[in-house]
Amino acid sequence: MSLRALGIGVAVALALVFGLWVGALLFLPDAPRAALAETAKLAAPAPQPAASASPFVPTVLLAMPVEGVARAALSDNWGDPRDNGLRQHHGTDIMAPAMTAVRAAAPGIIAKLWNSAAGGTTIYERSPQRRWIYYYAHLAGYAPGLHEGQQVRTGDLLGYVGDTGNAGAGNYHLHFGLTRTTPEQGWWQGTDVDPFPYLAGRPADR
Ligand SMILES: [Zn+2]
Repeated sequence: MSLRALGIGVAVALALVFGLWVGALLFLPDAPRAALAETAKLAAPAPQPAASASPFVPTVLLAMPVEGVARAALSDNWGDPRDNGLRQHHGTDIMAPAMTAVRAAAPGIIAKLWNSAAGGTTIYERSPQRRWIYYYAHLAGYAPGLHEGQQVRTGDLLGYVGDTGNAGAGNYHLHFGLTRTTPEQGWWQGTDVDPFPYLAGRPADR
């Protein structure tokens, strides 16, 4: 076979394949066209990343849950290693003298008064729509009369700064936790969120 004949053969073969492909596109039902449409979609430029580009600062802040502490005085200790690295810190530790007033960071309902080895004397407060849990731990004690089911407003006295649980004797501070929940979830469920931006009004340090 001459080179010329080979060239013609290849050209004919290519024309046949192309013809079959066009024929398939024209006469086969939806599948090939759908595939083409999908390809076109994939080829379109991806949307610009939005949220990840700039640090997160919430538009609505929580009230400071410890009396007399300035937002600027807070430091972000979310994710710090605890128990020799066995777990990560989920919350913001707010240092304050013993018995400093602890006040509601937002309006809500007292869902649970609980005593645990880690948190010591604690309060779980839920937002009215049951989307958030505000967690106050290491308390010295509760405000007089505080009870489960009680409605509280922002700034209401809830308890007092202490060193109960695993705070460490004399290491007086409020551990404030923030948890996102669905309304159906219990007070012990949900996904922990770094409360620091909501308290400090500036992005998390990390
Ligand atoms: Zn803590």
